[in-house]
Amino acid sequence: MTEEKKTTRKEIAAGKTLKNIMADYFHEMDEAAKTGSKKIAWCSSVGPAELLRGMGFLVFYPENHGAMLGATRMATDLIPYANALGYSPDICSYLTCDVGSYLQKKTPLTMAYKIDSVPKPDVLVFNTNQCRDVQDWFAWYSRELNVPLVGVHTHRDIGNIGAHQIKDIASQIEELVPQLEAVSGEKFDMDRFKEAVGYSRRTSELWRACLEAAAAIPSPWTFFDATIHMAPAVVARGTEEGVEYYELLLPELEQRVRDGVAAVEGEKHRLYWEGMPIWGKLRALSEQFASLKTCVVASTYCNSWIYDQLDPADPFESMAVAYTELFIVRDEPHKEAYITDCYEKFKFDGILFHDAKTCPNNSNNRYGMPERLSQKLGIPVLTINGDLCDLRCYSEEQAKTNIEAFIEQLEEG
Ligand code: SF4
Repeated sequence: MTEEKKTTRKEIAAGKTLKNIMADYFHEMDEAAKTGSKKIAWCSSVGPAELLRGMGFLVFYPENHGAMLGATRMATDLIPYANALGYSPDICSYLTCDVGSYLQKKTPLTMAYKIDSVPKPDVLVFNTNQCRDVQDWFAWYSRELNVPLVGVHTHRDIGNIGAHQIKDIASQIEELVPQLEAVSGEKFDMDRFKEAVGYSRRTSELWRACLEAAAAIPSPWTFFDATIHMAPAVVARGTEEGVEYYELLLPELEQRVRDGVAAVEGEKHRLYWEGMPIWGKLRALSEQFASLKTCVVASTYCNSWIYDQLDPADPFESMAVAYTELFIVRDEPHKEAYITDCYEKFKFDGILFHDAKTCPNNSNNRYGMPERLSQKLGIPVLTINGDLCDLRCYSEEQAKTNIEAFIEQLEEG
């Protein structure tokens, strides 16, 4: 049997600043929602945030709220309230738990920041690059709150991206401008927009460097750490605060690499995590892997907020490129080539696929990819069944046993 040992987590010092950034972010929005001092846009997580920031909006991300509902394990009890409205238990559990949270007037913001409710939007902005669920989710709020809904419709399942696709997306983003001006009451300012694109680009470069620090052996941090520290790359992109946070985190990780500090003591195995996090089980999984001397060093998920294609000199078109070149938008051969590149960079010994019941868009195990990659890379793969937020879809015992057996297989290999 593979031996499981008790482990202690090595806290990342920048985490204190992270807490302050998140508290300031939510308090600023709460204040604005109460006083009307600034307009608030809700945005899908890989939506056109730079344009919104560049037009003076504060930006709230319902998916971030969904992840908080998952991490605090409030989600599972709230999902049935959305199901009762006809939103299936099989669709995105971010959507269903978030709508349930609205209906039940319960939010993790209360416990974390003493904030009663999420900030009311002035406009809802989506990009279907990740899935259709974001559009349906925002459409529900649009009807409920009588708030305008605008969005970008992205081509999906793309191999090589054509100039016509980029042109189309760039025009769709540009066409949002007059609609957003009507909400903000302010004239669009190109310089301010370019500045936001510049901040996002810098945030992305730093975030990439942080993630790539995990290529070191031993790795200075894990996928589970990164799921927490990615928050500013999501919610503060397009702002100076986002840049400043990663200017703080990166040197800490680099110092760990120089000092040979291992996030997982005695690191023996390295894995890639493909798919959504299981938000309510991050700690348990992190501890199990650490006890098995296994570091999850890289993931598609955390890499999804790297947009270093952004270019302030060509803001609309570079946004179109950045938000179309995303992994989730691409076809299977592209995705496999992407993971192969990661394999070469991070030198992992196996891949764990998370089949998230309510997110087919981020579950890449369903059309033979694990088998093809295993054969191509000559490494074992494991699929675990679960979900991002709905813990009824996750059998902890079964996952634990399967992970243990997988690590044993690595030991024998
Ligand atoms: S990509 Fe998946 S998890 Fe994200 S909003 Fe869409 S369905 Fe939900």
